[in-house]
Amino acid sequence: MPSTPCDARIKQGYLFFSPDSSAALKPCLWCKRALAGGEMCYKHQFYGIDSHRCVQMTPTLRCNQRCLFCWRSFEHEVEVEAECPPETILAGVKKLQKKALAGYNAVLDNTVTDERWKEALNPRHVAISLSGEPTLYSRLPELVDLFNTNRYTTFVVSNGTNPDMISRCRPFQQYVSLDAPDVEIYEKTCRPMGDAEVFWDRIQESLGKLRAKRSAVRITLVAGVNDADPEGYARLLQDAGATFVEVKGYMYLGYSRNRLQRNNMPEHAQVRDFAKRIAAACDYTIRDENPLSRVVCMERV
Ligand code: SF4
Repeated sequence: MPSTPCDARIKQGYLFFSPDSSAALKPCLWCKRALAGGEMCYKHQFYGIDSHRCVQMTPTLRCNQRCLFCWRSFEHEVEVEAECPPETILAGVKKLQKKALAGYNAVLDNTVTDERWKEALNPRHVAISLSGEPTLYSRLPELVDLFNTNRYTTFVVSNGTNPDMISRCRPFQQYVSLDAPDVEIYEKTCRPMGDAEVFWDRIQESLGKLRAKRSAVRITLVAGVNDADPEGYARLLQDAGATFVEVKGYMYLGYSRNRLQRNNMPEHAQVRDFAKRIAAACDYTIRDENPLSRVVCMERV
């Protein structure tokens, strides 16, 4: 029997919420590192999120872009699926997270602090950002509301191509990616599955919805690909008026290594310099940075 897209992901450590959907969860490395008593990811430093209490998940693995820097494989695409109901996802969060972290149990691994292990079994934050474009899941607003009602904080990370969904979702923090200063660089970097002009206009529309929310724009900077025209980025950011802007260096990881080279990964100093040039051209100031993750956080002044 031929393997399905989800079979390939199971081998990569994804756990699925239901057998006929691609809604999935996979703890990130920082979650495991924090559980082992180590340091937490930059979201802890910037926004106070505890990595070992954070669930990284997606309601769908489908996506309408093929970004050069994406760590996922484009050979195993999910085309059709039965959408997993929000209630099933909510019910599965703790169960699947526990299963995924089982090898890190304090009894089995004495580097894990007892306290962090107990806290990890009761996650408080959901990052809807694993892989795929979450706004392609038609019940995303309901899912976010359900998490909110159950007192999880939520980050929704979107590529911005579905502005209507950005309007309808009420996460703790809404992210929209901006990976180009203009449509030509956008088409080359993000490779949309449709008319680039139409997709680009939709992204601009999504950016326009951020001023009214706690929000962040994420720029994934790929050296030699989209690290041009900081003033162009600044103009778009100024119009959007998001609360935060994260400029993050591309990491040479996963399947992106088939599309890019190691030297497309900017050094932290380059990321910082680019962020400074953006900040000089709009009303944002550098608030914090994390050299290990090559990320700079800017805040609207
Ligand atoms: S939008 Fe996100 S999931 Fe889709 S290809 Fe780009 S990086 Fe990957």
